[in-house]
Amino acid sequence: MQNQQRTTEQWRQLDASHHLHPFTDTQSLNQQGARVMTRGEGIYLWDSDGNKIIDGMAGLWCVNIGYGRKELSEVAKRQMDELAFYNTFFKTTHPAVVELSHLLAQVTPAGYEHVFYTNSGSESVDTMIRMVRHYWDVQGKKDKKTLIGRWNGYHGSTIGGSSLGGMKYMHEQGDLPIPGMAHVEQPWWYKYGKDLSPDEFGVVAARWVEEKILEIGPEKVAAFVGEPIQGAGGVIIPPATYWPEVERICRKYDVLLVADEVICGFGRTGEWFGFEHFGFRPDIFTTAKGLSSGYLPIGAVFVGERVAQGLIAGGDFNHGFTYSGHPVASAVARANVELLRDEGIIDRVKHETGPYMQQRWRETFSQFEHVDDVRGVGLIQAFTLVKDKSKRELFPDFGDVGLMCRDIFFRNNLIMRACGDHIVASPPLVITKAEIDEMLGVAARCMETFERKLKDSGLA
Ligand code: PMP
Repeated sequence: MQNQQRTTEQWRQLDASHHLHPFTDTQSLNQQGARVMTRGEGIYLWDSDGNKIIDGMAGLWCVNIGYGRKELSEVAKRQMDELAFYNTFFKTTHPAVVELSHLLAQVTPAGYEHVFYTNSGSESVDTMIRMVRHYWDVQGKKDKKTLIGRWNGYHGSTIGGSSLGGMKYMHEQGDLPIPGMAHVEQPWWYKYGKDLSPDEFGVVAARWVEEKILEIGPEKVAAFVGEPIQGAGGVIIPPATYWPEVERICRKYDVLLVADEVICGFGRTGEWFGFEHFGFRPDIFTTAKGLSSGYLPIGAVFVGERVAQGLIAGGDFNHGFTYSGHPVASAVARANVELLRDEGIIDRVKHETGPYMQQRWRETFSQFEHVDDVRGVGLIQAFTLVKDKSKRELFPDFGDVGLMCRDIFFRNNLIMRACGDHIVASPPLVITKAEIDEMLGVAARCMETFERKLKDSGLA
């Protein structure tokens, strides 16, 4: 049965009547009415008024393969017809999850042979938190409980994930963080680097992790967790020196190193995983999004040899979800990962579309008076809206002009996101050079409108 045909206005009214949206001020949304997305193909979306929209965010950093791949819907139908569901709790498994696990062990670097399934990034993070603490218990180190995350890091919306994350506005709701979570400052050179070179600053920022470990006591610290590139925190790309130094510190104090690959994983940086781009080896990494390109909800926690052997020796792990390793989601994820591999999509991001995007992104945005720190890796990129480039001075109410800018893109049928005053993009990995040109052409015109509006409203 297809969705019922209604007018845009009818959809908006029904949506406003019944649907509570995530991360949304419902009252304000309901006054404006939500935009109704009805169709997707490649990098494009269409809304219910027939507007064709460039999706520069791949949905929510997830539709890596692009919209409308019939291979995935066909696999889903076949799997649903054959075995729509069975659980993996009680001494059972099924071919879809076995095949996916086998494939994932091939696309990950050697040493990540074990995987635990979830339905989302948040569940992957919460699973990791429980896994890390259980691992140390099994090792007889029962005091090793604290996880260190970073301010402005994003690790999901569950109670564990949002506690580990460093979004203060999330901590303000629901009495968070839970105990056993600590945070260090993010490796954001533009704001904190002062007179240091980025490489010098990378080492300084990594040492903040060491200081925190020593402050808490290494015998109490279970893990350090970070996104290889902070996504929702504004695409903060750490200097090349940061991750190797963090890795050295974690090894020195016997603290597990965890990469949250929910955004970076499955090709976003031009490598399969972000830690491969930065040259470090996490003990565990969490994924979701690109694993199925968002076609169905599925996440996975990849467990390195050391932790896997500890867990396997440790008896029952009392954790899991009804839909861990869901057959249909597993089959779709497998087909998606095969397409990413067999069509050379990630290689193309590394060698062709990624470098092209970086070059064109810089050319397009560097010329604007209120744009600075134009940056990117693979197909994740950003720039920051600033009051005064010469002083690296940000706007006073961080986030206000970002929203203004984002809304101009949105009105012009281009989706990019504002994370504070960072404007970020993460298009489907199948984007072509011609589509990059089209996207940046629209973006440049929007930026002219934005800078005019800044002046007219006296903000700059
Ligand atoms: N970790 C990271 C790094 C993320 O970016 C996100 C989502 N944007 C999550 C975890 C949470 O994922 P989900 O929304 O699927 O729960």
